[in-house]
Amino acid sequence: MPELPEVEMVVRMLRSQLVGRRIEGVELLWERTVDRPAPEEFSRQLTGATLTAVGRRGKYLLFLLDNGQTWLVHLRMTGKFLVRSDPGQEAPEGALWNPTHIRARLWLDNGAYLLYIDMRKFGRFYLVADPAEIVGDLGPEPLGEQFTVAWFRDALQGRRGELKPLLLQQHFLAGLGNIYVSESLWQASIHPQRIAGTLTPVEIARLHTAIISALQAGIQNGGTSLGDRQYVYPNGQLGQHQHHLAVYDRAESCCPRCGYAIERIIQGQRSTYFCPVCQAAPGQDSSDDFLAERE
Ligand SMILES: [Zn+2]
Repeated sequence: MPELPEVEMVVRMLRSQLVGRRIEGVELLWERTVDRPAPEEFSRQLTGATLTAVGRRGKYLLFLLDNGQTWLVHLRMTGKFLVRSDPGQEAPEGALWNPTHIRARLWLDNGAYLLYIDMRKFGRFYLVADPAEIVGDLGPEPLGEQFTVAWFRDALQGRRGELKPLLLQQHFLAGLGNIYVSESLWQASIHPQRIAGTLTPVEIARLHTAIISALQAGIQNGGTSLGDRQYVYPNGQLGQHQHHLAVYDRAESCCPRCGYAIERIIQGQRSTYFCPVCQAAPGQDSSDDFLAERE
């Protein structure tokens, strides 16, 4: 599932290709992609509108239109956008999609097509006057000004649940998913099953730094395209961050820091990857001591 860095890459690429373009027509091939309003109304309001900005909030894409409406998109598992000069009747060689996966097709005033492709069909469109209706209850942006160490300390205080599932909750902190949470916890040397409210101030500061740097690294490397290659750029290319992951999807591989084998556990029905040495289990010797000895 695309997370903040992947959605950010999609936004940047679409922004350069779509801002200022007028939508000449909309064809919905899977109407249930549109959550609201009714599909006919969605198509009617988009047709003739000009795209004035493309942005992101958490894992949502936001397309601002000159008619005052905002089109929001959540890509979920396998949603992706491609901008093509043809209507996409043929997939490029090697692509893991085919024309039957095209759920929506928009044609633009410069003759290009914006294709929405979604094999699993979980992605959703929303067209609203006020984006807060959809994204109003999301937590702060981890790369935004609101995400400070002080905010993080207050937000974690008294939390009795495990840390990793909390970091995945979008109304706690927006944009993180399984990949970047696993990487952040490894970078901060914190066990994913730690009780959130028990982190020390030093650990909180370390995790804060790790979350920001994990996301920035993901963006710098153009996002993560895993083995299923479901995340591709709107120009059909792949991200490269999968070659830089320390623990995610690397069970049995060596920890890049200590060389011990990465472990995989199931937490909240999701896979968690971590290093059992660098990220000492709750109750075991603190990883602080471990790191202090090394520093
Ligand atoms: Zn390690």
